Amino acid sequence: MGLFRLLFWIAIIAAAFWLWRRLTRPARRPGDKNASAAPMVRCAHCGVYLPRDHALSQANLWYCSQAHLEQGPKPGER
Ligand SMILES: [Zn+2]
Repeated sequence: MGLFRLLFWIAIIAAAFWLWRRLTRPARRPGDKNASAAPMVRCAHCGVYLPRDHALSQANLWYCSQAHLEQGPKPGER
C-alpha cells in the first residue's frame, strides 16, 4: 500500500498548503476598500493627515487624537 500512503500524504500537504495560503493572504473584504477610500483630514494641532474615520472633530476642525483635540488648534495657525 505504498502508493496509497504517498497519495494520502500528497493530499494532506496540498490541503495544508492551500489552507496556509488562505490564512497568510486573506481575500480583500469590502470594508478594507471603504477604509482606504475614506477622505483624509488634517489635524488642526500637529498637521498630520489621517483617515476621517479615525479623526476626532470639534468646531469644524479635525484632530488626530484626544490629546490634540483638548489642546486645540496650533497657535498662529489662524
Ligand atoms: Zn495631532
